[in-house]
Amino acid sequence: AKNLGRNRYSYFTLYMQEAAQTRMRLTSDLRTALSHEQLFVVYQPIVELASGDIHKAEALVRWQHPTRGLVSPADFIPIAEETGLIVDIGQFVFEEAAKTVKIWRELYHPQFQISINKSPVQFYDMHENHANWFDYLASLDMPGQSITIEITEGLLMDASNNIIDKLLAFRDAGMQVSLDDFGTGYSSLSYLKKFDIDYLKIDQSFVRNLTAESEDFALCEAIIVMAHKLNIKVIAEGVETISQRDLLLAAGCDYAQGFLFSRPVKSDEFEKLLKAVR
Ligand code: C2E
Ligand code: CA
Ligand code: CA
Ligand code: CA
Repeated sequence: AKNLGRNRYSYFTLYMQEAAQTRMRLTSDLRTALSHEQLFVVYQPIVELASGDIHKAEALVRWQHPTRGLVSPADFIPIAEETGLIVDIGQFVFEEAAKTVKIWRELYHPQFQISINKSPVQFYDMHENHANWFDYLASLDMPGQSITIEITEGLLMDASNNIIDKLLAFRDAGMQVSLDDFGTGYSSLSYLKKFDIDYLKIDQSFVRNLTAESEDFALCEAIIVMAHKLNIKVIAEGVETISQRDLLLAAGCDYAQGFLFSRPVKSDEFEKLLKAVR
């Protein structure tokens, strides 16, 4: 038994060492990913449930690694956050999305918007300057109204003035604010009163096993009623089936996003979707 224990221990350390090495390699690879143009942006439609129309798009970053293939954001965003690389990556995604929204506004809809994920680390970073975003939009002659920023509950829990000021600056510039992954964080509802939120995104964990009798359905209904009373629109994430869509529609949900409508796709693919519904 003693031997087995020791073996287990050594397998465990081996595993930990490998995981640490992979992480170190990914970290150094990520530093060059931006300059080597391995990062790109895909777009997923956010659909108005009642009409089926495309309401806006969410921009999501992708990393085409030269040997590993496509690396999931779930694997590299945490590394980007720890190392601070998320600031440069975030700027890249923003600039790509801003150029894209300009084209789509000209071609398809003058009020089209793109949603961009903004990590709490980007708000905390001293060198990250939101003027960068405003200047960039101005250089494209694009209004703030063309952008929605997606933040998570964790950010709002930190009610420091600095964060509030930054959020207000985005709002003052005309951008909308969306609360991502709702229901998974350290939920305290008091921040919904303190901050002016435009959209609340129900996390896909509530949608995954949705049936009419499920507790998840009761939760979705309650979230939607509460949000509407606060004048907040609701987007359901991870909608994969017609039955999920129908339940959400019955519960009064405004918008949905998920593989049922489309996976995240490159901009030219997205333009086909926009053309199809025009
Ligand atoms: P998120 O912001 O909650 O994005 C939604 C995720 O759900 C995306 O994963 C999307 O591909 C996935 N998804 C969409 N519809 C469905 C569906 O019907 N079923 C399932 N199972 N999944 C669906 P993705 O692109 O892998 O991104 C994962 C997370 O990485 C994002 O979660 C976000 O937190 C982060 N992320 C992605 N791009 C960026 C970025 O540019 N900046 C920052 N800061 N974070 C990003
Ligand atoms: Ca998001
Ligand atoms: Ca989400
Ligand atoms: Ca509001």
